[in-house]
Amino acid sequence: MMDIRLLVSRGVFLETGSTRIALDPLVLPRAKPQATFISHAHQDHYSTKVLRKLSNIVMSRVTRKIIDPKRRLKNVIEVNPGETIEIDGLVVEAFHSGHIIGSLQFRITLRDAAIVYTGDFNLEKRVVLQPATPLRGDLILIDGTYGHPAYVFPKRREIYERIISRVKEVAGSGEIVLKSRKLGVAQELTALISMSTSLPVIVEPEIARYNEIYEEYGEILGRYAVSEEPRRGAPLITRLSRRLPRNIPAIPVTGWALKTGIPLSSHADFSQLVEYVKRSKAQVVVPVCGFREEFSRYIRENLGVDSYSGKDISIRL
Ligand SMILES: [Zn+2]
Repeated sequence: MMDIRLLVSRGVFLETGSTRIALDPLVLPRAKPQATFISHAHQDHYSTKVLRKLSNIVMSRVTRKIIDPKRRLKNVIEVNPGETIEIDGLVVEAFHSGHIIGSLQFRITLRDAAIVYTGDFNLEKRVVLQPATPLRGDLILIDGTYGHPAYVFPKRREIYERIISRVKEVAGSGEIVLKSRKLGVAQELTALISMSTSLPVIVEPEIARYNEIYEEYGEILGRYAVSEEPRRGAPLITRLSRRLPRNIPAIPVTGWALKTGIPLSSHADFSQLVEYVKRSKAQVVVPVCGFREEFSRYIRENLGVDSYSGKDISIRL
Protein backbone atom coordinates (compact mmCIF):
# COMPACT_ATOMS: atom_id res chain seq x y z
CA MET A 1 0.00 0.00 0.00
CA MET A 2 1.26 3.44 -0.87
CA ASP A 3 -0.26 6.83 -0.09
CA ILE A 4 0.33 9.49 -2.68
CA ARG A 5 -0.48 13.18 -2.48
CA LEU A 6 -0.74 15.09 -5.71
CA LEU A 7 -0.91 18.82 -6.15
CA VAL A 8 -1.99 19.81 -9.66
CA SER A 9 -1.55 23.53 -10.11
CA ARG A 10 1.01 25.22 -12.36
CA GLY A 11 2.80 21.88 -12.66
CA VAL A 12 2.29 18.50 -11.00
CA PHE A 13 3.81 17.87 -7.57
CA LEU A 14 3.81 14.36 -6.13
CA GLU A 15 4.66 13.32 -2.59
CA THR A 16 4.78 9.89 -1.04
CA GLY A 17 6.59 9.18 2.23
CA SER A 18 9.79 11.18 2.02
CA THR A 19 9.83 11.17 -1.80
CA ARG A 20 8.94 14.31 -3.72
CA ILE A 21 8.77 14.73 -7.47
CA ALA A 22 7.99 17.77 -9.63
CA LEU A 23 6.65 17.37 -13.16
CA ASP A 24 6.81 20.33 -15.56
CA PRO A 25 6.78 22.84 -12.66
CA LEU A 26 6.01 26.49 -13.38
CA VAL A 27 6.40 27.44 -9.72
CA LEU A 28 8.72 26.29 -6.95
CA PRO A 29 7.27 23.45 -4.89
CA ARG A 30 6.80 23.88 -1.12
CA ALA A 31 9.70 21.53 -0.40
CA LYS A 32 12.61 20.73 -2.66
CA PRO A 33 11.93 17.65 -4.82
CA GLN A 34 14.43 14.80 -5.27
CA ALA A 35 13.85 14.99 -8.99
CA THR A 36 12.18 17.28 -11.52
CA PHE A 37 10.97 16.12 -14.92
CA ILE A 38 10.54 18.30 -17.98
CA SER A 39 8.52 16.54 -20.66
CA HIS A 40 9.16 18.95 -23.55
CA ALA A 41 10.14 22.42 -24.66
CA HIS A 42 6.74 24.15 -24.98
CA GLN A 43 6.72 27.21 -22.77
CA ASP A 44 3.72 26.13 -20.72
CA HIS A 45 5.79 23.19 -19.42
CA TYR A 46 8.81 24.84 -17.88
CA SER A 47 10.16 27.98 -16.29
CA THR A 48 13.88 28.63 -16.50
CA LYS A 49 13.64 30.79 -13.39
CA VAL A 50 12.21 27.86 -11.42
CA LEU A 51 14.63 25.32 -12.90
CA ARG A 52 17.60 27.41 -11.80
CA LYS A 53 16.64 26.63 -8.21
CA LEU A 54 16.11 22.88 -8.60
CA SER A 55 18.40 19.90 -8.89
CA ASN A 56 18.22 16.52 -10.67
CA ILE A 57 16.33 17.99 -13.60
CA VAL A 58 15.52 15.26 -16.10
CA MET A 59 14.90 16.12 -19.76
CA SER A 60 15.94 14.98 -23.23
CA ARG A 61 19.04 16.33 -24.96
CA VAL A 62 16.86 18.06 -27.58
CA THR A 63 14.63 19.70 -24.99
CA ARG A 64 17.72 21.05 -23.29
CA LYS A 65 19.04 22.39 -26.56
CA ILE A 66 15.84 24.40 -27.01
CA ILE A 67 15.27 25.65 -23.46
CA ASP A 68 18.87 25.94 -22.30
CA PRO A 69 20.98 26.47 -25.44
CA LYS A 70 23.89 27.99 -23.51
CA ARG A 71 23.81 25.15 -20.97
CA ARG A 72 23.53 27.47 -18.02
CA LEU A 73 21.31 25.18 -15.96
CA LYS A 74 23.16 23.05 -13.47
CA ASN A 75 22.14 19.58 -12.36
CA VAL A 76 20.48 18.54 -15.60
CA ILE A 77 20.28 14.81 -16.29
CA GLU A 78 19.84 14.18 -20.00
CA VAL A 79 17.86 11.08 -20.93
CA ASN A 80 16.74 9.89 -24.30
CA PRO A 81 13.93 7.60 -25.44
CA GLY A 82 14.60 3.99 -24.47
CA GLU A 83 16.91 4.85 -21.58
CA THR A 84 16.49 3.98 -17.91
CA ILE A 85 18.19 5.84 -15.08
CA GLU A 86 18.07 5.72 -11.30
CA ILE A 87 17.79 8.75 -9.03
CA ASP A 88 17.64 8.27 -5.26
CA GLY A 89 15.73 4.99 -5.44
CA LEU A 90 13.48 6.12 -8.30
CA VAL A 91 13.76 4.07 -11.47
CA VAL A 92 13.01 6.34 -14.40
CA GLU A 93 12.30 5.15 -17.94
CA ALA A 94 12.02 7.62 -20.80
CA PHE A 95 9.94 7.06 -23.96
CA HIS A 96 8.98 8.99 -27.09
CA SER A 97 5.79 10.98 -26.62
CA GLY A 98 5.35 11.85 -30.31
CA HIS A 99 4.35 15.46 -29.57
CA ILE A 100 7.29 17.69 -30.61
CA ILE A 101 11.00 17.11 -31.16
CA GLY A 102 12.58 15.80 -27.95
CA SER A 103 9.27 15.30 -26.12
CA LEU A 104 9.24 12.46 -23.61
CA GLN A 105 6.85 10.53 -21.46
CA PHE A 106 8.23 9.09 -18.23
CA ARG A 107 7.51 5.97 -16.18
CA ILE A 108 8.77 6.37 -12.64
CA THR A 109 8.87 3.24 -10.50
CA LEU A 110 8.86 3.80 -6.81
CA ARG A 111 8.92 0.69 -4.64
CA ASP A 112 6.15 -1.40 -6.27
CA ALA A 113 4.15 1.32 -7.99
CA ALA A 114 4.64 2.53 -11.54
CA ILE A 115 3.66 6.14 -12.12
CA VAL A 116 3.38 7.35 -15.70
CA TYR A 117 3.57 11.00 -16.72
CA THR A 118 2.53 11.22 -20.36
CA GLY A 119 3.34 14.90 -20.92
CA ASP A 120 1.71 16.05 -24.16
CA PHE A 121 1.60 13.13 -26.57
CA ASN A 122 0.38 11.84 -29.90
CA LEU A 123 -0.26 8.22 -30.88
CA GLU A 124 -0.68 8.74 -34.62
CA LYS A 125 1.87 8.15 -37.35
CA ARG A 126 2.89 11.50 -38.82
CA VAL A 127 5.28 12.76 -41.51
CA VAL A 128 7.62 13.75 -38.66
CA LEU A 129 8.58 12.13 -35.33
CA GLN A 130 7.85 8.71 -33.87
CA PRO A 131 4.43 8.26 -32.33
CA ALA A 132 4.02 7.48 -28.63
CA THR A 133 3.05 4.03 -27.41
CA PRO A 134 0.73 3.93 -24.37
CA LEU A 135 2.64 2.85 -21.27
CA ARG A 136 1.32 0.53 -18.61
CA GLY A 137 1.28 1.89 -15.09
CA ASP A 138 -0.66 1.95 -11.81
CA LEU A 139 -1.17 5.70 -11.76
CA ILE A 140 -1.36 7.64 -15.03
CA LEU A 141 -0.94 11.40 -15.02
CA ILE A 142 -2.28 12.21 -18.46
CA ASP A 143 -2.53 15.22 -20.77
CA GLY A 144 -6.15 16.38 -20.89
CA THR A 145 -5.86 19.20 -23.45
CA TYR A 146 -8.54 17.69 -25.69
CA GLY A 147 -10.21 15.64 -22.94
CA HIS A 148 -13.70 16.55 -24.17
CA PRO A 149 -15.75 14.38 -26.56
CA ALA A 150 -16.21 17.40 -28.88
CA TYR A 151 -12.54 17.15 -29.84
CA VAL A 152 -12.39 14.07 -32.01
CA PHE A 153 -10.31 14.86 -35.09
CA PRO A 154 -10.50 13.18 -38.49
CA LYS A 155 -7.74 10.64 -39.28
CA ARG A 156 -4.39 12.23 -40.07
CA ARG A 157 -4.40 10.96 -43.66
CA GLU A 158 -7.70 12.74 -44.22
CA ILE A 159 -6.41 15.97 -42.68
CA TYR A 160 -3.24 15.76 -44.77
CA GLU A 161 -5.31 15.40 -47.95
CA ARG A 162 -7.39 18.42 -46.98
CA ILE A 163 -4.29 20.56 -46.44
CA ILE A 164 -2.67 19.49 -49.70
CA SER A 165 -5.73 20.05 -51.86
CA ARG A 166 -6.50 23.42 -50.23
CA VAL A 167 -2.94 24.62 -50.65
CA LYS A 168 -2.76 23.51 -54.30
CA GLU A 169 -6.10 25.07 -55.11
CA VAL A 170 -5.33 28.50 -53.63
CA ALA A 171 -1.63 28.70 -54.42
CA GLY A 172 -2.39 28.37 -58.13
CA SER A 173 -4.03 31.77 -58.19
CA GLY A 174 -2.58 33.73 -55.27
CA GLU A 175 -1.14 33.80 -51.80
CA ILE A 176 -1.96 31.46 -48.94
CA VAL A 177 -0.91 31.45 -45.32
CA LEU A 178 -1.09 28.57 -42.87
CA LYS A 179 -0.99 29.66 -39.24
CA SER A 180 0.17 27.13 -36.68
CA ARG A 181 2.07 26.68 -33.45
CA LYS A 182 5.69 27.46 -34.31
CA LEU A 183 7.17 24.42 -32.56
CA GLY A 184 5.29 21.26 -33.50
CA VAL A 185 2.64 21.67 -36.18
CA ALA A 186 4.74 24.15 -38.21
CA GLN A 187 7.40 21.48 -38.82
CA GLU A 188 4.79 18.88 -39.72
CA LEU A 189 3.31 21.34 -42.25
CA THR A 190 6.75 22.10 -43.71
CA ALA A 191 7.46 18.40 -44.23
CA LEU A 192 3.98 17.61 -45.55
CA ILE A 193 3.74 20.41 -48.11
CA SER A 194 7.35 20.32 -49.29
CA MET A 195 7.28 16.58 -49.84
CA SER A 196 3.74 16.15 -51.19
CA THR A 197 3.60 19.07 -53.62
CA SER A 198 5.96 20.83 -55.99
CA LEU A 199 5.07 24.22 -54.49
CA PRO A 200 7.90 26.25 -52.94
CA VAL A 201 7.27 26.40 -49.17
CA ILE A 202 8.13 29.52 -47.16
CA VAL A 203 8.50 29.57 -43.39
CA GLU A 204 8.95 32.50 -41.02
CA PRO A 205 12.45 32.92 -39.53
CA GLU A 206 11.18 32.02 -36.05
CA ILE A 207 9.82 28.74 -37.40
CA ALA A 208 12.97 28.09 -39.45
CA ARG A 209 14.95 28.10 -36.20
CA TYR A 210 12.92 25.13 -34.95
CA ASN A 211 12.98 23.47 -38.38
CA GLU A 212 16.77 23.42 -38.13
CA ILE A 213 16.63 21.66 -34.77
CA TYR A 214 14.30 19.01 -36.23
CA GLU A 215 16.74 18.49 -39.10
CA GLU A 216 19.74 18.36 -36.80
CA TYR A 217 18.08 15.47 -35.00
CA GLY A 218 17.36 13.50 -38.13
CA GLU A 219 13.88 14.66 -39.21
CA ILE A 220 13.43 15.27 -42.93
CA LEU A 221 11.46 18.41 -43.71
CA GLY A 222 12.26 18.77 -47.42
CA ARG A 223 13.04 22.07 -49.15
CA TYR A 224 11.78 25.40 -47.88
CA ALA A 225 12.71 29.09 -48.06
CA VAL A 226 12.82 31.48 -45.11
CA SER A 227 10.92 34.78 -45.25
CA GLU A 228 8.30 36.85 -43.40
CA GLU A 229 6.45 37.75 -46.58
CA PRO A 230 3.80 35.78 -48.43
CA ARG A 231 4.42 35.25 -52.14
CA ARG A 232 2.09 34.29 -54.95
CA GLY A 233 2.09 30.55 -55.54
CA ALA A 234 4.16 29.75 -52.43
CA PRO A 235 2.40 28.71 -49.20
CA LEU A 236 3.72 30.61 -46.17
CA ILE A 237 3.79 28.94 -42.74
CA THR A 238 3.53 31.45 -39.88
CA ARG A 239 2.94 31.55 -36.14
CA LEU A 240 -0.68 31.60 -34.95
CA SER A 241 -0.52 35.18 -33.70
CA ARG A 242 0.67 36.66 -37.02
CA ARG A 243 -1.49 39.49 -38.35
CA LEU A 244 -1.86 39.71 -42.10
CA PRO A 245 -3.74 41.88 -44.62
CA ARG A 246 -7.37 40.81 -44.89
CA ASN A 247 -7.16 39.92 -48.57
CA ILE A 248 -4.67 37.12 -47.97
CA PRO A 249 -6.38 33.85 -47.11
CA ALA A 250 -5.05 32.54 -43.78
CA ILE A 251 -6.01 29.12 -42.46
CA PRO A 252 -5.57 28.36 -38.77
CA VAL A 253 -4.06 24.88 -38.40
CA THR A 254 -4.60 23.72 -34.81
CA GLY A 255 -6.88 21.35 -32.92
CA TRP A 256 -8.78 24.35 -31.56
CA ALA A 257 -9.79 25.26 -35.12
CA LEU A 258 -11.94 22.17 -35.49
CA LYS A 259 -14.76 24.20 -37.03
CA THR A 260 -12.99 27.21 -38.52
CA GLY A 261 -9.75 25.81 -39.90
CA ILE A 262 -7.87 22.54 -40.13
CA PRO A 263 -7.58 20.48 -36.92
CA LEU A 264 -4.02 19.25 -37.31
CA SER A 265 -2.58 18.97 -33.81
CA SER A 266 0.53 17.62 -32.10
CA HIS A 267 -1.72 16.59 -29.21
CA ALA A 268 -3.77 13.45 -28.80
CA ASP A 269 -7.43 14.06 -29.60
CA PHE A 270 -10.19 12.73 -27.34
CA SER A 271 -10.21 9.25 -28.96
CA GLN A 272 -6.47 8.87 -28.49
CA LEU A 273 -6.72 9.95 -24.85
CA VAL A 274 -9.36 7.28 -24.26
CA GLU A 275 -7.24 4.70 -26.08
CA TYR A 276 -4.27 5.56 -23.89
CA VAL A 277 -6.27 5.08 -20.68
CA LYS A 278 -7.62 1.71 -21.86
CA ARG A 279 -4.22 0.38 -22.90
CA SER A 280 -2.44 1.62 -19.77
CA LYS A 281 -4.43 -0.80 -17.52
CA ALA A 282 -4.19 1.91 -14.85
CA GLN A 283 -5.81 1.72 -11.42
CA VAL A 284 -6.04 5.50 -11.19
CA VAL A 285 -5.91 8.21 -13.86
CA VAL A 286 -5.46 11.93 -13.24
CA PRO A 287 -5.79 14.37 -16.16
CA VAL A 288 -3.32 17.16 -15.42
CA CYS A 289 -4.35 19.93 -17.82
CA GLY A 290 -7.06 20.97 -20.26
CA PHE A 291 -10.54 19.51 -19.76
CA ARG A 292 -9.58 17.88 -16.46
CA GLU A 293 -13.03 17.58 -14.93
CA GLU A 294 -14.85 16.44 -18.07
CA PHE A 295 -12.23 13.86 -18.96
CA SER A 296 -12.02 12.56 -15.41
CA ARG A 297 -15.80 12.10 -15.28
CA TYR A 298 -15.75 10.30 -18.63
CA ILE A 299 -13.03 7.93 -17.37
CA ARG A 300 -15.00 7.09 -14.21
CA GLU A 301 -18.36 6.70 -15.91
CA ASN A 302 -17.42 5.08 -19.20
CA LEU A 303 -14.13 3.30 -18.64
CA GLY A 304 -14.76 2.15 -15.07
CA VAL A 305 -11.37 3.43 -13.88
CA ASP A 306 -10.81 5.56 -10.80
CA SER A 307 -10.06 9.16 -11.75
CA TYR A 308 -9.67 12.53 -10.03
CA SER A 309 -9.49 16.10 -11.22
CA GLY A 310 -9.09 18.29 -8.12
CA LYS A 311 -6.16 20.48 -7.22
CA ASP A 312 -5.14 18.55 -4.11
CA ILE A 313 -5.60 14.80 -4.50
CA SER A 314 -4.91 11.88 -2.14
CA ILE A 315 -4.52 8.46 -3.70
CA ARG A 316 -3.93 5.05 -2.17
CA LEU A 317 -2.32 2.54 -4.54
ZN1 LIG B 1 3.18 20.79 -25.74
